[in-house]
Amino acid sequence: MLARAITLSESQKDSDKKLADELLVKLLPHTGRSLRVGITGSPGVGKSTFIEALGKYLTAQGKRIAVLAIDPSSEKTKGSILGDKTRMEELAKDPLAFIRPTATGHKLGGVADNTRDAILLCEAAGFEIILVETVGVGQSETAVRSMVDFFLLLQLAGAGDELQGIKKGIMEMADGIVITKADGENEKKAKQAQTEYQHALHLFQLAESGWQPKVLTTSALEKKGIEEVWKMIEAFRAFSVRNKFFQKNREHQNLLWFHENVDQLLKNKIFKSKTALNKVRSIEKKIIEGKITPSTAASEVVKSLLMR
Ligand code: GDP
Repeated sequence: MLARAITLSESQKDSDKKLADELLVKLLPHTGRSLRVGITGSPGVGKSTFIEALGKYLTAQGKRIAVLAIDPSSEKTKGSILGDKTRMEELAKDPLAFIRPTATGHKLGGVADNTRDAILLCEAAGFEIILVETVGVGQSETAVRSMVDFFLLLQLAGAGDELQGIKKGIMEMADGIVITKADGENEKKAKQAQTEYQHALHLFQLAESGWQPKVLTTSALEKKGIEEVWKMIEAFRAFSVRNKFFQKNREHQNLLWFHENVDQLLKNKIFKSKTALNKVRSIEKKIIEGKITPSTAASEVVKSLLMR
């Protein structure tokens, strides 16, 4: 039933949308009681293996968990996310777990919206922990950051200069970093990387939450360090509930969601109206010809739309 509700909320059909809205309004009082955790990292870093290990650790304690996976590239490759469910084979069979890739649609905005609805639906269905997985492609990380309570970045220990090539922006968004595959020959490198990351994080300004991000190492294959990661996430929850950031952040995220939707709906309205679209097209020509600046053009279009 949950899977069908999510499919309904992803539908582009107007009649489905109306039904999905009605459903979500009815379910709203039953949402919000989960811990929402975003997990990101480059392909191959070990996300699905890690999520399966964490998921099994949690379900072993009787916790119900939902995994929502976003892959902005899956539209093209169709591969990695579909593969996710088979890669998380054990978790997929676990009656306490629910795994679902998010339909990508065509825009990132659409993906984010679908995932937000899916989070609410999973909560209403009684899932107490929601893991939102995304591959490390800039925009999708920002989108996921804006819908979760805790944001976890997975990193591999490389050879030597650890911090090279890592987007500083993503590190700044993280509440925790996990160095994956800390086993065998890699274990020593992982510990080294842990120290380097911890130092680097101390150089950043403290996040609004007041939480000092932590760096841990895990081996999902050997099931090492998984419990520590969960303890860190629980510690964050306790910390941020105490200093009221938890609730404040959720309120802020809801308002952001609302504003994004207003933007999106207004844009859709413009691009659905023929006259408006004609006006946009003719002004685009003027911009290309250098007769008007883009910002003046934008205010002209908006002015003419508001006057109609
Ligand atoms: P994803 O693309 O980030 O989801 O990465 P996967 O979970 O599919 O893992 C990529 C590869 O790394 C696979 O071949 C895994 O078997 C391997 N891997 C994942 N976790 C570990 C680990 O803890 N230790 C070791 N040695 N290999 C791992």
